[in-house]
Amino acid sequence: MVEELNPFKIAQSQLDAAAKIMNLDPHALAILREPKEIMEVRLPIIMDDGNVQVFKGFRVHYNNARGPMKGGIRFHPQETLDTVKALAAWMTWKTSLADIPYGGAKGGIICDPEKLSKNELQRLSREYIRAIYKFMGPDIDIPAPDVFTNPQIMAWMVDEYERIVGHSAQGVITGKPLEIGGSLGRTEATGLGGMYVLREAAKEIGLDLSKSKIAIQGHGNVGQYAHKLAIELFGAKVVAVSDVYGAIYNEDGIDYNELMKHKEKTGSVIKFDGCKSISNEELLELKVDVLIPAAVENQITGKNADKIKAKLILELANGPTTPDADLILHRKGIPVIPDFLANSGGVIVSYFEWVQNINGFYWDLEQVHERLDKNMTQSYHDTIETAKKYNTYPRMGAYILAIDRVAGAMKVRGWY
Ligand code: NAD
Repeated sequence: MVEELNPFKIAQSQLDAAAKIMNLDPHALAILREPKEIMEVRLPIIMDDGNVQVFKGFRVHYNNARGPMKGGIRFHPQETLDTVKALAAWMTWKTSLADIPYGGAKGGIICDPEKLSKNELQRLSREYIRAIYKFMGPDIDIPAPDVFTNPQIMAWMVDEYERIVGHSAQGVITGKPLEIGGSLGRTEATGLGGMYVLREAAKEIGLDLSKSKIAIQGHGNVGQYAHKLAIELFGAKVVAVSDVYGAIYNEDGIDYNELMKHKEKTGSVIKFDGCKSISNEELLELKVDVLIPAAVENQITGKNADKIKAKLILELANGPTTPDADLILHRKGIPVIPDFLANSGGVIVSYFEWVQNINGFYWDLEQVHERLDKNMTQSYHDTIETAKKYNTYPRMGAYILAIDRVAGAMKVRGWY
């Protein structure tokens, strides 16, 4: 049972399943089942009280056949090497599916950032770079923020890297603050990218988004923008939203600006005037046109998948649908736009940031949005076409396409 829940075993079994359908060369599969290289580091930090605490960190390079390694850095008390390995594999498929010239990587430090002072956090961030700097670079491996890391941490890390190598190297990390080479449009990129694929999927199933009702689970960075943009871009009605404290429902639609004011005052979406209180479970089962999970993993499971009434699911969260639920939804004919397609807007704008850093030439917001739209739209149609070709569902289509591109790059390089 523990074995089954191991994220890296899950990542390997997804790869195996796709490999079988696409008849992947066994040599390519053998290479793709394991990361290319792993670095494990010990980070001694002098804490504010004068004691030394030693933290453990990782950086996993999964594959770089298509370009430099790319993936975030997580600070998490329950971080494990197997989680980082799985996330590095998923980054490989995500960058490939988005057709940006990167491989996949991921890093992490086992720590609880909430228990660290700002100075301790800065020392830890810098120490991590001192430990892995030979393992990274704008042409080697380009980290970015992830769980419990942010643009400020990226700024300390870029600064440390530049001090060590002795020259400017802004393209070494993305997700930086605007002051040191961050890209316009990064904050809303994931939610906005999701809206572009939603527009394409709605066209395909004949859903008029201007008359549609949408439910969104989670109202953080991603869910908030999904709420705002679904109204602004399509004139859709967002009838339900939620956060970790509960969910709210109003069949006439929930006003974005008013809700943000309420959140500012109360710290939550719950108890918003004019809305009915419901649970997060009820939100998932509402009779809506589009359901957008934008919170945490494992929300649509074998237990509730049969009760889902949405016509379309847009997975903005990572891993919101379990594999057994996936099969049930497929049987019910509910299309699911898979996470590593739907939420790839963030990494695509990260790529734009790197391109701008390398060229030393910066784009306006309109250009960022236009290119993001082009990229997401293409990825969506490529995925659906592949799914149709192999007579499978979109998630499997996305895996097949992503794996096929990486395998193709390894083949021409003569790796197998
Ligand atoms: P966030 O921390 O800003 O927001 C998370 C939201 O989900 C909050 O409103 C929180 O209250 C809510 N939430 C947490 N647990 C919940 C639960 N059990 N039930 C209902 N709501 C719950 O995070 P985010 O950046 O918006 O990320 C959301 C999801 O999108 C995650 O799965 C993340 O991995 C994925 N994602 C984010 C990005 C990005 O650019 N931020 C990119 C790709 C994928």
